[in-house]
Amino acid sequence: MNTPALEIHGLRKTYAKSLEALKGIELCVEQGDFFGLLGPNGAGKSTTIGIVSSLVNKTAGSIKIFGHDLEQDPYTAKTFIGLVPQEFNFNVFEKVIDILIHQAGYYGIPTKVARKRAEEVLAELGLSDKAYTVARNLSGGMKRRLLIARGLVHQPKLLILDEPTAGVDIELRRSMWTYLEKINQQGVTIILTTHYLEEAEHLCKNIAIINHGEIIENTSVDGLIDKLQQETIILDLGTPLKQSLQIPNFELNQRNDTTLEVTYTRGQDLNALFIYLREHSCSVKSMRNKANRLEEQFLRLVSKEVP
Ligand code: ADP
Repeated sequence: MNTPALEIHGLRKTYAKSLEALKGIELCVEQGDFFGLLGPNGAGKSTTIGIVSSLVNKTAGSIKIFGHDLEQDPYTAKTFIGLVPQEFNFNVFEKVIDILIHQAGYYGIPTKVARKRAEEVLAELGLSDKAYTVARNLSGGMKRRLLIARGLVHQPKLLILDEPTAGVDIELRRSMWTYLEKINQQGVTIILTTHYLEEAEHLCKNIAIINHGEIIENTSVDGLIDKLQQETIILDLGTPLKQSLQIPNFELNQRNDTTLEVTYTRGQDLNALFIYLREHSCSVKSMRNKANRLEEQFLRLVSKEVP
C-alpha cells in the first residue's frame, strides 16, 4: 500500500490553560484523495491545518507528510505541502509574478526555473495577463486565484486549502472546483476545509467531521450519505392536483397545486410512487432533493454532540 499523504496521531493543541482546541486527533489521508475537513466554527479545522502547515505549534502528537515526520524531517516534509490560506497574506505591493518567484525561492527553486513555473501556473489559472500587475490592483477573485497559484508554484504533492471559496461568487467557485478536480486527477492530493456542504458533496471522496476538537466522523462521502435513513424529494407536477393523494410507505405533503413533497425511507423502490402518480393522471415535470444530503447528515452529527 502507498504511504499516506498525511498521517496525524494524537494531535493536541491547547491555546490557553482552559482552551483545548484539539483533543487528540487521529487522521489519515491517502495519496490521491480529495479530502474534506468539515466542522462548525471554532471546531478546530484551522488549528489542524495550521499545525500541518507549520504555522501553529502543536501541544502534542505527531504528523507525517508522505511518510516524513514534520518534527524530525521538517524540510522534506514541508516541500510536499502547498497551502492556500483563508486570508490574502501576500505583499500587495509586489507584482504577481514576483510573489510566485519569491515563494518558489523558499523551496530552493532557482529564479529561472521559478519564473517558468510561475508563468505556467498563472496561465492555468487564467492570470497570465496579470503577471506584471501589482497584487493590490487585482480583483478579489483574482487574488483568490493568486493564492492558489502561489500554493502550487513549487509543485506540491499535497495541496491544503482553508475555506478556498468563502465569499467567492458562484461563477468563480465553479471554476475553482473544475480546476481543483483537474489537478486532483493529475495526482495532487487535496485537503480542504469548507463551510459549504454542497462543495464537499460535489468534490470530496472522503471527509472527516471535527467538532469541539474531536473527529466525530471519518468516512467516505458516499458512505455518509448512505447512512441517511430518510430522504425527501420535491416533485414539480405538469398538471395541478385535483385530489389529495395517499400512498402506503410514502409521506406526502402537498405544498401547492403543482408541488409535492415526498418523504420515504432510503432504498425504497420509487416505482410505486411514479406508478401511483400516473394512475392518478399526474405527470412529473422535474424532481429534486429537498435538502443537500450531506448537509442533513452533518447537522444530525454535529447537533448530537451539543450537550
Ligand atoms: P475552526 O477553523 O474550525 O473555525 P479554529 O481552529 O480556528 O476553528 O479554532 C478552534 C478553537 O481554538 C476555537 O475555540 C478558537 O477560538 C480557538 N483559537 C483559535 N486560534 C486561537 C488563538 N490564536 N488563540 C487562542 N485561541 C484560539
